[in-house]
Amino acid sequence: MTARDGGCACGAVRFRAEGDPRFAFVCHCGACRRKTGTGHAASAAYPRDAVTITGTARVYPRPAPAGHAVDQAFCGTCGSPLWNTTPRAETLIMLDLGAFDDPSGLTPGRVFHAEDALPWDRQPWHDHPQGDAT
Ligand SMILES: [Zn+2]
Ligand SMILES: [Zn+2]
Repeated sequence: MTARDGGCACGAVRFRAEGDPRFAFVCHCGACRRKTGTGHAASAAYPRDAVTITGTARVYPRPAPAGHAVDQAFCGTCGSPLWNTTPRAETLIMLDLGAFDDPSGLTPGRVFHAEDALPWDRQPWHDHPQGDAT
């Protein structure tokens, strides 16, 4: 089975995701903009039981634009964004694509909050169908 490894910049938090994600997506909402420091976040949604985590991430709880709760995980030492979880999709963990050691095989197929995309951050994925916000 395919397994993809990833983690933060300093190595304090690592993860391994088994199999393929349910889907990968980008999100242009304001929370993802601040989380990443650029125009959008890019993540892969895996079943939580397919992901093994070593080390301890810090968690910043915040509301999503749609109102549900999101726990945003990052490394407390180096600050790398790592993943999001939400009770709204409690069987999934949204691993940040940039945290994978090799994210090249994970292509976003959905875009959330495309209406919030900045003029300088238009991407090919804006032609994809829009999904539910996570
Ligand atoms: Zn770190
Ligand atoms: Zn977002």
